[in-house]
Amino acid sequence: MFRKWQHGLAVLALVLPLIGGLATTVPAQAVSKTATVKKTTPAKHHYLLVMGHGAGDAGARGNGTTEATALRKIFLPELKKYAKQVQHSTITFYNPKRNLVTDTLQRHQGSYKINKHTTVIMFHLDAPSGHGGHVIISKRHPTARDRRLAKVIKKYVGLNRAYMGYSYRTNLRNCNVLRRRGIDYSLVESGFITNKTDYQRLKKHRAQIAKSDIEAITNEKLPANAK
Ligand SMILES: [Zn+2]
Repeated sequence: MFRKWQHGLAVLALVLPLIGGLATTVPAQAVSKTATVKKTTPAKHHYLLVMGHGAGDAGARGNGTTEATALRKIFLPELKKYAKQVQHSTITFYNPKRNLVTDTLQRHQGSYKINKHTTVIMFHLDAPSGHGGHVIISKRHPTARDRRLAKVIKKYVGLNRAYMGYSYRTNLRNCNVLRRRGIDYSLVESGFITNKTDYQRLKKHRAQIAKSDIEAITNEKLPANAK
């Protein structure tokens, strides 16, 4: 609520000088028309998806591969495919060759370049040992989006019994670079890369997991026949 109101103020701040500036040269009718169009066209919500740690950080290792490789080679192409089908939101991906944390902490880029109305969804694979996934949440209690994401993990890989779906953490750097900037996020641990069953399920169901994750993130149902 507060966030929306802030956004409204920002739009007003942009429009008001425009009206003031145009008033001397453009008829009043044309000006009010411009203002109405701005008000009634709702912007699509932007989701930024981040695959693993980025850049040269391979992340966790297991099953003869790494977190980075599994996420980028197996999962990313599927996510991209379904992200294109989304109508009511905009989805982009953080450049896997970049590391959001070091971009933020060392270059004053990364989270500083992310619009505060953007929601960031981070995908990771767990280590060193265990089974199942969970969602690392940004508030004490899971949001509706967090619940939808946990359901996807439960259905295709299984939930980590240690967390029963959710974990609220304030000591993770990749979360805190967003938290400090007031950016909303969820971090999805889709299972253990070190666990053979988890890894096999991830590979086998990658298309369904990706589709369901995109639906969970955007709360939009994608066409059933989509491949
Ligand atoms: Zn990770």
